[in-house]
Amino acid sequence: MAKKAKVLKKGKPKTSASFQEKTKVEKVLEEVWPLERDFFERPDRYRYVRKLARPKTCVFCSAEKKRLSFDSLVLAKTQHAMVILNKYPYNSGHLLVLPRKHIGEIWELGEEELMEITKWTQSSMRILHEVYQCKGLNMGMNHGAVAGAGIPDHIHWHIVPRWLGDTNFFPLIAQTRALPETLKQTYERLRPAFKEELKKWESK
Ligand SMILES: [Zn+2]
Repeated sequence: MAKKAKVLKKGKPKTSASFQEKTKVEKVLEEVWPLERDFFERPDRYRYVRKLARPKTCVFCSAEKKRLSFDSLVLAKTQHAMVILNKYPYNSGHLLVLPRKHIGEIWELGEEELMEITKWTQSSMRILHEVYQCKGLNMGMNHGAVAGAGIPDHIHWHIVPRWLGDTNFFPLIAQTRALPETLKQTYERLRPAFKEELKKWESK
């Protein structure tokens, strides 16, 4: 009798545990997957970012006037371009590369500005790869408010590090592991590499 009871006890929780596990996974997927659709098809979901970032003056222009520091979130600044930490990151290490000039359309950028932005995009991607050991990166721009730009009047390119195991633009891994890093920690982690890069830039 005792033996029989043990077998039943052993078998029962196993089935219910695997059932519970599946439900948990499904729950997480439900919470995470809609984010991709929201990003591409429902940029209005990010209205709160625009709301917060809609003071009288442009936040990027205000940062542009400040020195490189955690307060300004600016990591690098050269004649025409700058690199800044995204205040509302999708993922730790989420950077923005942008012109120093307040420009809302990509076709308004001059050749020199474009070249500097491209160079900083390349350097930023390499630095994120080295510092964060990410296996890939997403880089792109939301051009105009209707396309989801939080600050449409001052164009900016997003760079987001990615890790293995991601199957989505908003990785599960980032939600559970990378995002708990504070902005301050991210800034301090990236600052030395950008300092080095600026030295190279100045010696050219
Ligand atoms: Zn601006």
